[in-house]
Amino acid sequence: MEKSRDQLLREIRSLKKRREQLEESISIKRAALESTAEGILIVDGKGKVIDFNEKFTKLWNIPSDIVKQRGDNRFIQYVLQQLSDPDSFVDRIRELYADPDVESLDEIHFKDGRVFERYSLPLHLDGKSAGRVWSFRDVTERGRIEEALHKSEEKYRNILENIEEGYYEVDLAGNYTFMNEAICRRQGCTRDELMGMNNRENTSPENAKKIYRIFNEIYRTGVPAKIIDYEIIKKDGSTINLEMSVSLLRDASGKPIGFRGVSRDVTEKKKAEERLHYLANYDSLTGLLNRALFRDRLSHAVERALRNRGVVAVLFIDLDRFKSVNDTLGHEFGDKLLQAVARRIKECLRKSDTIARLGGDEFTIMLEDIASPERAVTVAKKILQALVRPISVNEHEIYTSASIGITVYPGDAADIDGLLRNADSAMYLAKERGRSNYQFFTPEMNAKAQERLLLESSLRRALEKEEFLLYYQPQVDIETGGLIGFEALLRWRHPDLGMLAPDRFIPIAEETGTIIAIGEWVLRTACTEWRSWRDAGFPPVDMAVNISILQFRHRDLPETLAQILKETNMDPRYLELELTETALMTNPERCRDILAKLKAMGIRFAIDDFGTGYSSLSYLKRYPIDTLKIDRSFVKDVATDPDDAAIVQVIIALGRTLRMCVMAEGVETLEQSDFLKSQNCRKAQGYLFSPPLTPDAAVEWLKKAARPPLVGTV
Ligand code: C2E
Ligand code: CA
Ligand code: CA
Repeated sequence: MEKSRDQLLREIRSLKKRREQLEESISIKRAALESTAEGILIVDGKGKVIDFNEKFTKLWNIPSDIVKQRGDNRFIQYVLQQLSDPDSFVDRIRELYADPDVESLDEIHFKDGRVFERYSLPLHLDGKSAGRVWSFRDVTERGRIEEALHKSEEKYRNILENIEEGYYEVDLAGNYTFMNEAICRRQGCTRDELMGMNNRENTSPENAKKIYRIFNEIYRTGVPAKIIDYEIIKKDGSTINLEMSVSLLRDASGKPIGFRGVSRDVTEKKKAEERLHYLANYDSLTGLLNRALFRDRLSHAVERALRNRGVVAVLFIDLDRFKSVNDTLGHEFGDKLLQAVARRIKECLRKSDTIARLGGDEFTIMLEDIASPERAVTVAKKILQALVRPISVNEHEIYTSASIGITVYPGDAADIDGLLRNADSAMYLAKERGRSNYQFFTPEMNAKAQERLLLESSLRRALEKEEFLLYYQPQVDIETGGLIGFEALLRWRHPDLGMLAPDRFIPIAEETGTIIAIGEWVLRTACTEWRSWRDAGFPPVDMAVNISILQFRHRDLPETLAQILKETNMDPRYLELELTETALMTNPERCRDILAKLKAMGIRFAIDDFGTGYSSLSYLKRYPIDTLKIDRSFVKDVATDPDDAAIVQVIIALGRTLRMCVMAEGVETLEQSDFLKSQNCRKAQGYLFSPPLTPDAAVEWLKKAARPPLVGTV
């Protein structure tokens, strides 16, 4: 059947249209093919190239005409020469052609370091296998990023594991979800033991409560916090102190999922702080409070007393003659004595009483909330009593005593400085009243304390300003009344206070150490005076000079003396050094050495105030002593008190046994003089014969001595 023309035209038109449609669809596909980021290659079942896109030629760096050769050897050469492992590439292609329905995704590596992702998809036409679509994507950059990511993660983990600080993460309930090595190390646990453990399990209940509160607060506000004092109980039971930061841990969506932070071990730091605190507030020798903390406690007590109308008493305790123990037996010895004394005093106190060491041999006690000042008396008596028993230190038995001053708030002072000052003044009164006693503060004491301060500061310059002078008291033969010698007695012409007797300033000079220089001045002046008398033509007389215990122990004394004797050309046989029993009985071995050294120079010795101290006979026997001076307290009542008379008799007998000369001092009456004469005491000194004299008056005595003396006249 012949087609009609119309029919033919219609077919042509429709064919044309289909072609147009087809072309359109092909160009759409083409455009699609070119617009992807991947390089695409389509091959048929036999491996012949059907199609490819621009990107493919670019990725593989192959001129497109070579690809168009379809299956040409040159094409495969181009591909293989670029790869770092061409064999496995070829193998993979073979495998895939053997199994046309398999999809595959792998990576291919280039010699130049590039990495492609290779995707292969079976191509089906009308349900039949018709080849493959290969797509390639350059993933070199992605690999680099992954590698960098991996590396940086490792770096951070490395840092985390190697830092001193602990890093932890916990969930919202406080269970550990992550921690670094430092945390495990510090807590003495393995990671497994810690994982899942609650952070409240390894701390005290109070701490746990505190942590809970802080975590809650952070959860509520989102504001990070720092926990400064977090005590952790380690697995072995010991504790460590942490300082820890805490902040909220959120997931990617910002939802809180736990807490995290850094913790630092501050155990050592805390210990150092505690040590500093201790040093700032306690006395390291005795463990008692120091001045600073005592003042603090006292001011609180005063505040409380003000509110509750209470009474606070302050006791100021100063050991008697501690300085000489320290100077003669050494500081180490002195320290031990102080420790022992601190213990003794403490035993006299109640728990609620506060005791401190202010420094040196000074202790203070605060009695708070006492019903009446009587309690202070009880405590003071107890302390004095406790110190009566000797204290043994380094196998020495040391006898000590204390002088105690007491002051009471609110009666005596309005503030703590006033209280401390008053107690100090009262303590000085106790010293003046013969030591080993207690005294309450009285307003007159303030004046005394003021004077003491004044003396202390002016004493320093008294030597330079030539304010010292010596008086000379005659020593006589009690039988004939003839002059034997003089005792040099120190005076201080104070610019404001007038002439001062040594008892007022010698103790201060001893405490401040100025006694060494003053003592040297005394020796030099006395010897110079002696020389001037000799040069004036008088016959030689004895010159007695008082030596302080400190001066006696000073290592320069022998040299100083030798120097002075040489300077003044004094005959040492006429020089008699007066030493107290205390000076001679502390550290007797050392004492014997010094005595021997001076004795070798020809100097003589007297024991001053004999009978008031504790002398050991065995030492007395071994010392080269020439004279015993009976203390004037015994002489005073010798004519009326049989006890004192007996003591004086014993001393005189002792002197005779030890072949020492005996001298009575403070002889004021004829009765005393007669009694002494009846006991065969050879020498005497006292107002009965003469008071201490100025140098000019002493010369008058020397002149008179040339004439026959009249007993009992001045
Ligand atoms: P002391 O060594 O016992 O000196 C005797 C003291 O008794 C002197 O007091 C003297 O004035 C006083 N006195 C003399 N005769 C009588 C008397 O008949 N009745 C009374 N009641 N007293 C009399 P002074 O001069 O005030 O000296 C006191 C103490 O000061 C001395 O006691 C001595 O221990 C010390 N001292 C004096 N001068 C020095 C010195 O140069 N160096 C040192 N280290 N101490 C000195
Ligand atoms: Ca004397
Ligand atoms: Ca004396």
